[in-house]
Amino acid sequence: MRFSEIIGNDALKEQLVRMVRSGRLGHAILLTEENGGGAFAFALALAQYVNCREQGPEDSCGVCPSCHKYQKLIHPDLHFVFPVSSSNFLSESEKKGPVSDYFLAPFKELALANPYFTEQMLYDAIGIENKSGLISVNEARRIFEKLSLRAAEGSWKTMIIYLPEKMNLDAANKLLKLLEEPPLGTLFLLVSHNPERLLPTIRSRCQAIALQPLTREQRRSIEGAGQDNADFREIAKSILEAGLAKRIIDLFPQWEMLADLGREKQREWCLYMENYLRKIYLVANGLDGLADLSEQEEATVRSFAGRIKPSFYEKAFANLDAALSSIGANVNPKLVFCDLGNRLLLAL
Ligand SMILES: [Zn+2]
Repeated sequence: MRFSEIIGNDALKEQLVRMVRSGRLGHAILLTEENGGGAFAFALALAQYVNCREQGPEDSCGVCPSCHKYQKLIHPDLHFVFPVSSSNFLSESEKKGPVSDYFLAPFKELALANPYFTEQMLYDAIGIENKSGLISVNEARRIFEKLSLRAAEGSWKTMIIYLPEKMNLDAANKLLKLLEEPPLGTLFLLVSHNPERLLPTIRSRCQAIALQPLTREQRRSIEGAGQDNADFREIAKSILEAGLAKRIIDLFPQWEMLADLGREKQREWCLYMENYLRKIYLVANGLDGLADLSEQEEATVRSFAGRIKPSFYEKAFANLDAALSSIGANVNPKLVFCDLGNRLLLAL
């Protein structure tokens, strides 16, 4: 992630880059955000910047081998710790002492799809939905082990700890030891929602930086910025058009496309489709003001509003909810989306 890709907090980007370039960056930074406010994106951009081999005056280069690996979240010196709990994703033995490493694949998938994720989005992605995550002393031991290795490639080992306030006391004491005597060339990046819940001794070891909350416009541009939304909209449109024309054959490429996405993207698409249908429903019922249509949506949403029968919406929402549960339960995505397609076509 480059700083230029992050929306909002522009002064902070300059401040962090200045700190790196003048050698004033400490070994532990505590970034505080409102839930989903982008501090994780800042942590990624800073980690990428310190290890970039062609560091520019304002940003990382984005193309050197190190940046390349950071952008895919596969750099061997990039480590993640986040709160976890036991989940159906895990084997029986893993359930006894869950740690972040067991959930790295869904975590990275989420972070790549949306670095502005919230705490709940994390729990949904790693399958612990209704439980609250914890960072255990086992996890703290692993941090210790990882950081005692030499940096594999970069000049800095970067350890991003999402929600350190979820550490229990034993874990927090272990982290404190590491912050007091940091292994050589280590940068700790803590992303917190409640820094007052951290041990004061941990806080005092960190350079604290608070992010400004995002404005409504910035939030909207984050939601609208991803090309995914344009892609998602195209899929939604094609499905409704094919369904209205009862051309089942035209639905297949859309289902194939959805089935090939990762679980997190499939979930996002279902939620996008529900929101898209909600807008069409509102317009169909003369509540245009509540639909909050973007320029790109305007014409097609109005066109669908005039053609979709009122009985469709309830069935569509029920089927999309059922698809969301199936995705969460790891049902074969081809079956999920083929079934969803048939049901939507019948209901239209
Ligand atoms: Zn670079």
